[in-house]
Amino acid sequence: MCGIFGYVGTERDASDAVIEGLRRLDYRGYDSWGVAVLNRHGIEVEKHVGIVTKEPLKIRGNIGIGHTRWATHGAVTENNAHPHYAADKSFVLAHNGIVENATELKAVLEKKGHKFHTQTDTETIVRLVEEKQKRHKKLADAVRAAFKDLTGRNTIIVLAKDGEVIAARNGSPLVFGSKNDELYFSSDVLSFAPHVSSVMVMENGQMVSKNGQRLQVMDIAKGTKVTPKFEKNAIVGGEVNKGDYDHYMLKEIREAPFVVRQLLKEPDTNYRALAAAIKKAKNVYTIGSGTAGAAAAQIAFYLRVYGEIKATALIGAEASDYYSLIGKGDLLIAPSQSGETADVLEVLELAKKRGAMIASHVNMPGSMMTRMSDFKFMAQAGPEICVMSTKIFTSQIAWGYLVAKTVGGKLQDGKRNLSALATAMNRYLKDEIVLKTLKEIAGRMAKKEDLYILGKGQNQQIIKEGMVKIIEGSYIHAHGIPAGDLKHYAITLMEEGTPVIAVVSNDTLKNDVLNAIHEVKARGAKVVGIAPENAEQFIDWLKVPDTKETSAIMNVIPLQLLAYYMALARGNNIDKPRNIAKSVTVK
Ligand code: GLU
Repeated sequence: MCGIFGYVGTERDASDAVIEGLRRLDYRGYDSWGVAVLNRHGIEVEKHVGIVTKEPLKIRGNIGIGHTRWATHGAVTENNAHPHYAADKSFVLAHNGIVENATELKAVLEKKGHKFHTQTDTETIVRLVEEKQKRHKKLADAVRAAFKDLTGRNTIIVLAKDGEVIAARNGSPLVFGSKNDELYFSSDVLSFAPHVSSVMVMENGQMVSKNGQRLQVMDIAKGTKVTPKFEKNAIVGGEVNKGDYDHYMLKEIREAPFVVRQLLKEPDTNYRALAAAIKKAKNVYTIGSGTAGAAAAQIAFYLRVYGEIKATALIGAEASDYYSLIGKGDLLIAPSQSGETADVLEVLELAKKRGAMIASHVNMPGSMMTRMSDFKFMAQAGPEICVMSTKIFTSQIAWGYLVAKTVGGKLQDGKRNLSALATAMNRYLKDEIVLKTLKEIAGRMAKKEDLYILGKGQNQQIIKEGMVKIIEGSYIHAHGIPAGDLKHYAITLMEEGTPVIAVVSNDTLKNDVLNAIHEVKARGAKVVGIAPENAEQFIDWLKVPDTKETSAIMNVIPLQLLAYYMALARGNNIDKPRNIAKSVTVK
């Protein structure tokens, strides 16, 4: 969510470097942005509401910082956009996160005479640094002292009039890239990948300052020096482009066969090591938020069915009632696109402190989640740019399936099934008739205000994720209902013409779902079936290949495509739906 970027070097104009960086961070979601550069006039700032410009800025310089804001405190206005000036313009500051004690700090600072000009929590950091400057002559010392007084997950970047750039991390991600004497600061490595030869991930509780040739990393709490550890930039290309597609979402849905095959490249020993830990664990939890929450629940399902493990699925922001139950001997499994999801990280950090082990499946290199994991898996799915996750969800649940099969002693069988799934997906995604039918049905559904999705067993989380995609993309109210639970409540909503999507696999629960469809059809609902076989209850049939054990993973594709074409029919901003951000690094 939102982003920070910084550039120090003589090779490029800083405002060009920062603008390019902000544009490459733009998939994370934001509502306004700003850039500050240092030149012979001092520090100049330009801020705007809306999308980062494609045009070069008028302000130029060799050192610059930038910010994309996803407003949490204060309206989306130019004035509230970052970076924010110190009262004497001796520095500017940009911030990711939430200062949880902003109200208290502001009251104290106002009493001391500091004037506030924005509605942001960020401005309390600026004024606090100014207050600390009364005692600390060096700006870096004042920033460090101020940072120690903040509560919440915060990351800041500061540009000073003398050319010093300071960044401190405690939550939102912060990474560096360097080549010769150029240094990039950013929220993710993708944003500067093509320009650097080495990268460094900053840990929570660390601060960095760069002034001329001097680069210093410090432990914020202790005030001690830390040796910077740069690693070789492993991101090949870091390509971020849509190719021939109109939208990243469609491109990424169509990469499903590729992402499934990537999982088969992981050495067997890694799957076996995790499976052994799962079998030994006292309790196994899976955890995620949003789409990754649905993936976590599907992974738990696979662990129960194919691994015979009592796995419990948790939602990141709703796990606090488990805090006292998690402890030594437990294992938490976290699928995450960014590896930086704040509410999940909070649970994992706590679990780790209490002695539990962590396994993660992450797509973004260098993330916090990977770094704290005992079992690290990378999706290696390539950048996912659309704010709505599609290929990573597919990767997460296919990975969970394989892990569960390994627990059940059937790794090779699992791999064969995933390989067959990738082939079936590929054929399906290239079938023009399939795409045409999906588009037609989506066009009709896009005219409705409410729709319902039914499924059962292995498709339980899949319909939930289908619901999430439709809500995110088309802003139409969708409701995923467990087929068996329908008659306990949602049946009241069924009337003539109610649109229903039913996901029916060829498994032992098939007849239960078909019976539920009878019940809604009898009340006038119009049911579109996603199934390997047609049924008399369907008014439209979206045929999917029967991939047996991996059938649920296959069913994700038509649901994602429906959501895509519905969003398209509604004329929405598909790759960046309103109000949501990709990487939710604030709680
Ligand atoms: N809380 C800050 C604000 O609302 C920063 C939000 C962000 O991370 O972009 O301005």
